[in-house]
Amino acid sequence: MSNFPKSAVYKSLIVPLIVVCTFFYDISRVMAKTGSQGEIGMSAIPVLCYHQVRNWKSADSKSDRIYILPVNTFREQIKSLRNNGYHVILPDQLVDYFEKGAQLPEHPVLLTFDDGTESQYLNALPELDAADFKAVFFIMTAVLDHSPFMSRNEVVDLSRRGHIIACHTWDHHSVKGYNASDWIKQVKLPREELERIIGKSVKYFAYPYGAWSPIAISKIEQLGFTAAFQLWGKCDKTKPIYTIRRILVSGYWTSSDLLNAIRKIEK
Ligand SMILES: [Zn+2]
Repeated sequence: MSNFPKSAVYKSLIVPLIVVCTFFYDISRVMAKTGSQGEIGMSAIPVLCYHQVRNWKSADSKSDRIYILPVNTFREQIKSLRNNGYHVILPDQLVDYFEKGAQLPEHPVLLTFDDGTESQYLNALPELDAADFKAVFFIMTAVLDHSPFMSRNEVVDLSRRGHIIACHTWDHHSVKGYNASDWIKQVKLPREELERIIGKSVKYFAYPYGAWSPIAISKIEQLGFTAAFQLWGKCDKTKPIYTIRRILVSGYWTSSDLLNAIRKIEK
């Protein structure tokens, strides 16, 4: 990957990622209207999913902007969570709550960031620090050290500051089409690389495009992940911990929109 051109990285990952995510986002909106959430309470704790945090550029299309939170909007959302009594939790707390009934603080919320763009490090991290909020960062290893994605040093810094580094495959191919060697290339080796980079175990996985399958759940469990996060659809009834549903935070949402989406989950 060392001579992988920046423009190629952008075109090969960001553009298809936005196109496919946009398709799924539309499905999600329909599902939200029909109230189709996880059936067994796995979604009762709001888990937020952010992508890029940066100001919009004129080249960003309408659909791109769903995945790009302007910096001021993100700042206002973080302030709003704090001012409305939300307590940020870590994924270990969420798992202990689901599996052992461990106590959570009042109004818990888990923050997650997908894809590892550098905008998260440069623009979201200062706001998280200001609020003393910790988050989970799902990283693709193929693009580490290639702008507009984070460097390895930035990933190390996030981990040292108490944020959770987690796996989001090697180059963002959907798990639905994996053969045996894909599972090694896309999940096993990238996870091991992240563990080498941060010097800690990597326990959590997010499905690219939020899309999963029953076979993928078994593989993720066999590989020893503690939990996995999706974006769309119901939780799997037999293995809900490997299909934790998240709220995709749209770049068009105000703080009030975010609070309304969270309160729907809490009900
Ligand atoms: Zn992603």
